Amino acid sequence: MNLTEKEAKEKYCPNFIDVHCPGTECMAWRWDESVPYRVEPMNLEEMKGSDCFECATAFSDAWRLDVDRYRCPKCRSAAVRTIEEPERRRGYCGLAGRVEVR
Ligand SMILES: [Zn+2]
Repeated sequence: MNLTEKEAKEKYCPNFIDVHCPGTECMAWRWDESVPYRVEPMNLEEMKGSDCFECATAFSDAWRLDVDRYRCPKCRSAAVRTIEEPERRRGYCGLAGRVEVR
């Protein structure tokens, strides 16, 4: 059963009676996925002085707004930034085992 650390701490440890799961502080904790993230468009202020992540083309008036994000005139990559959301990352108890719930 995959849980966020917050959810896991609300459950009891399978190894000790009346002890809540200590989450990532426990040696038995196993992550089952990498840190989730969301992607947001960069605004004009953030883009000034920055380059395209893909082809290093400098930001200029040639960049065009495409719906909600600016795109590189050369390779069409969007100017975005990723924001990690570690609180959404899920793992499981290595003692209880990995129970697949579908
Ligand atoms: Zn580019």
